[in-house]
Amino acid sequence: MTRRHQGHMNGEQYLANTSPSKREVHDLDNEKTACQIDEIIRAGHDKPYTSRQAANRDGYDNCAHCIGGSTR
Ligand SMILES: [Zn+2]
Repeated sequence: MTRRHQGHMNGEQYLANTSPSKREVHDLDNEKTACQIDEIIRAGHDKPYTSRQAANRDGYDNCAHCIGGSTR
């Protein structure tokens, strides 16, 4: 349950899953095991964001586990 410095991540709070079947953004400061962040990084689908709104603007939905599922 921590920010990452691996894959494409360099300590940013938000991680977007670029997998075409997922397209979700996660809040690493509120990470849940259901988010499977390490699996996302291992698959190379991690994209860092410092702002959740920026990820939403890029078309990523909020993760239901760590953010709550709304897009705002
Ligand atoms: Zn999540």
